[in-house]
Amino acid sequence: MRKPIIAGNWKMNGTIASGSILIEAFNNVLQDMDLSCDVVVCPPFTALERAVTLTRNTAIEVGAQTMDYHDAGAFTGEISPLMLTEVGVSYVIIGHSERREYYGEADETVNAKIKSAFRHNLIPIVCVGESLEQREAGHTLEWITSQLKGALQGISKEQVSQLIIAYEPIWAIGTGKTATAAQAETVCKSIRDYIRSVYGHDVSNEVRIQYGGSVKSDNSKQILGQPNIDGALVGGASLVVDDFVEIIKAAN
Ligand code: PGA
Repeated sequence: MRKPIIAGNWKMNGTIASGSILIEAFNNVLQDMDLSCDVVVCPPFTALERAVTLTRNTAIEVGAQTMDYHDAGAFTGEISPLMLTEVGVSYVIIGHSERREYYGEADETVNAKIKSAFRHNLIPIVCVGESLEQREAGHTLEWITSQLKGALQGISKEQVSQLIIAYEPIWAIGTGKTATAAQAETVCKSIRDYIRSVYGHDVSNEVRIQYGGSVKSDNSKQILGQPNIDGALVGGASLVVDDFVEIIKAAN
């Protein structure tokens, strides 16, 4: 049985102070729950260290929203995996569509970052997803497969079984337009089928696949109830205590 995983991607929102309030509120609710899913929060870089401190001895783990793949060097403005592990981060989102669109991250970069994450014992949450044009042209599955192929080049079977794949249709991110549960399940199932065809049955049974894109408290139950969806990558709703808690409950 795959353990569901709910991750909150705070994006470029909040401050150390507001993030601390949010985490304390999550802690208050989650400590009384019998949690059977993993819960991860991904604050901006500046709030990571505080987030790690506040979640010590709780069920919540901390992830970064991106990183560079080099360990150190002349890469102005970047954050390395060593810096993330130094503050106690456990997960890192890689290849989010906003990184791909605004910062030119290509599949090769995504691939290098996944390899780097594994070198440093960080669990990558690897994002893939199609644009509205690609969906309307009927190219969704072909596109997702090509993104996966590029992202996972040279990654071992064992590593593939440990990483998280987040299927996030670009047209559903921050738009309030969620994919239907059936649409999300179709793509997540095809991702699992692709993993099976390349890495075998055991790996495809173990790899966790999240859906992301306007997941809210009122649609989470249906989405998380699908057989090939093992969790959610949540943007906007992860900044609202009641919403995020409801999504966690739906996965639990
Ligand atoms: P959203 O963002 O939930 O606000 O649509 C999801 C994401 O970008 O991970």
